[in-house]
Amino acid sequence: MKDHGLPCVSSDSPHPEKPVSGSISVDTDRRKFLMKTLTAAGALSAVTLNLESDAEAQTGEVASPLSAPESFADGSHLERMRLELNTAIQKPVKDRKWVMVIDQQKCIGCDACTVSCNSENNLPPGVVYRPVAKEEIGTFPNVAWHFTPRPCMQCDNPPCVSGCPVKATWKRDDGIVVIDYDVCIGCRNCIAACPYNARTADFGDFFGRNTPEIMAYETRPNYEYSEEWARKPHSHSSPIGNARKCTFCLHRIREGMLPACVTTCLGGATSFGDYNDKNSLVHELIGSSRVRRLKEELGTAPSVYYLV
Ligand code: SF4
Ligand code: SF4
Repeated sequence: MKDHGLPCVSSDSPHPEKPVSGSISVDTDRRKFLMKTLTAAGALSAVTLNLESDAEAQTGEVASPLSAPESFADGSHLERMRLELNTAIQKPVKDRKWVMVIDQQKCIGCDACTVSCNSENNLPPGVVYRPVAKEEIGTFPNVAWHFTPRPCMQCDNPPCVSGCPVKATWKRDDGIVVIDYDVCIGCRNCIAACPYNARTADFGDFFGRNTPEIMAYETRPNYEYSEEWARKPHSHSSPIGNARKCTFCLHRIREGMLPACVTTCLGGATSFGDYNDKNSLVHELIGSSRVRRLKEELGTAPSVYYLV
C-alpha cells in the first residue's frame, strides 16, 4: 500500500514556490476579468458591502475580508491563500488542517469550479467531484437562486472510511480523506455510506464511446495522489473500477498550488487554507457568524464551511 499520508513537498522541494496559474501577466489579466465579472454579478455583495461599511465606520475596525468583501474583487485573496498554503506545506502534515470556506452570497452558480475540477482530474461521464446544487427559493415575484457547491466535505468523522471493508480509504492527519486506488475493490460501500453523495463509481466510461475514436483529452492521464493514472478504453486499470471523490486537489497542494476550483471561482466564493494558521484567511472567515456546515446533526464534522 502506498503511503498517501506522507508529504511530497518539503523545504527542499524543487517546486515549493510554484505559482498558481503560471505567470504574473496571467494573474493580472485574470484580475481585470474578475473586476468586470463581479461588477455585473455582485449586486448582492454590494448590499452587504454597504451594510458592513456603515458598521465599520461606527466601530473604526480595520478592514478584513468579512468587513470589506470588495477585497475579493481583484483576485488578491488568491495570492494571499497561495502564500499561506506555501507556508503551511513546510510544516509536518499533522500540524496542518486543510479547510474550505464557500461564501454562498458570492457564488453565482457559474459552474466554473465544476468544469475546472473535471478538467484537472480528467473525470469521465458520471463522475463529478464538485457539483453546484441550484435551488429556486421564495414565491413569485420575490424569488432568487440559491447555489450550493458540494465538494467532498473531508469529514473529521467520515462514515465512508468505516464502511470500507478493505481499508482502502482513510483520513490523513491534515484532514483530507484519500482512497488508495490499488487497494479499492470497487464494492461501493463507501458510496452508500457517504451522507453527502460525495463519492461516485468510475465505470470506465468515455464521452466519445459511440464515436469512431476516443479523443486524446479523454485518455490523457491525471495526477491524483501525485501519481500518473492512465485511462484507456476497455481497460480495467485504476481508477477505472474504483470509487472516486474530491481530494481538495492534494496533488496540487503538495506542489504549492491551490485546488483547481479555488483558482477558477469567478465569484471569489471559495477559500482554502490551513485552519491551524490563526492568521489565515480561512481562519478569519470561519470566525463569521454566517458560518454553517451541512448536516452537522450527523456528527460527521465536515471540513467544508459555508457562509450563508
Ligand atoms: Fe467521506 Fe462523504 Fe465525508 Fe467525503 S463527504 S469524507 S466521501 S463521508
Ligand atoms: Fe459558485 Fe465559484 Fe463555483 Fe462559480 S466557480 S459556481 S461562483 S463556487
